[in-house]
Amino acid sequence: MNTVSYKAYEHLAHATKAQPLVTVVIPFFNEAEVLTTCHTRVCAALSNLQQHCEIIYIDDGSQDNSWSLVSEFTHRLHQVRCLRLSRNFGKEAAMSAGMKAASGRCVILLDADLQDPPEYIPDMVKAWQAGAQVVEMQRQERHGEGWLKRTTAHCFYRFMSHVSDHPITENVGDFRLMDQKVVSVINTLPERTRFMKGLLAWPGFTRTVLSFDRDARLAGTTKWNYPKLMHLALEGITSFSTKPLRWATMAGLATSLIAFVMAIVIFTKTLVWGDAVAGYPSTILIILFLGGIQLLSIGVLGEYVGRLFIESKQRPLYVLMEDAMQKPTFQSMET
Ligand code: UDP
Ligand code: MG
Repeated sequence: MNTVSYKAYEHLAHATKAQPLVTVVIPFFNEAEVLTTCHTRVCAALSNLQQHCEIIYIDDGSQDNSWSLVSEFTHRLHQVRCLRLSRNFGKEAAMSAGMKAASGRCVILLDADLQDPPEYIPDMVKAWQAGAQVVEMQRQERHGEGWLKRTTAHCFYRFMSHVSDHPITENVGDFRLMDQKVVSVINTLPERTRFMKGLLAWPGFTRTVLSFDRDARLAGTTKWNYPKLMHLALEGITSFSTKPLRWATMAGLATSLIAFVMAIVIFTKTLVWGDAVAGYPSTILIILFLGGIQLLSIGVLGEYVGRLFIESKQRPLYVLMEDAMQKPTFQSMET
């Protein structure tokens, strides 16, 4: 580029040295098919802001050529940072790595598969500039998701909002904007089992909800299956509420009460009418019922003990293998 055309961009070169306005955090796992389109669309959306921004890609142990793709990504005005985890730690850990590294004045979490359209970024930033410290994106339509997924998701949100002490807005996933203040609070939360929907809701701050239509995946397949979702749901419940323990106690109390009443009834029947003790089926039923309640309560207790065990080991959330920073091509020309 000659001096004349460089001069025309000089004010932008200066801007690229300031703190980025927005950091977009994009975790991915085996997403080679979508990453190029993702980068193009995110950059186009950020260009509308006409400010220096940052994009952080986190490779969550991909086995395809995703890493070689993202590590080549650059932008004239925006800083592109690529973190590579040493193996697949899960989306939650990948997002945490991204949030720790984010240097923008606000942070947006985005899926690489473009189910969360980057075109909403300017609206989110506008809402933030208008004063909201958290901008939650609520799904209206969930394209590409079957009836079963939608129904189970709905039930999960209802259940969680019932058991959790901190309300989680229904149909709001990880796609959201957070002020750097909120992000730094989340970064200090030490737990290893990271139920992100809960953690992101925990700090509070002022919130706005915007609605959006969730697209179908651009390509590839979802990394979730029902056993994984079940695990996530259990993790969510046990890491954000101790209500199941209370329920186990209640169930124990209720069965003891029933047993007490039944004992009186049987005792009276035998004494007054001389009835023989009711037979085999009812005995088996009661044994099975009590056995079930006991096993369930031990299971609930076990879930919490398991959490304690994992937390007490204090292992790091993720291990970084590579950290590549592509400064804005603009700035590197200047220096
Ligand atoms: N993802 C990840 N690590 C994982 C699983 C998923 O970083 O172990 C990323 C994935 O590449 C995508 C985002 O998390 O960018 C959402 O995953 P996915 O689309 O599979 O979930 P869904 O949208 O179906 O809930
Ligand atoms: Mg997806």
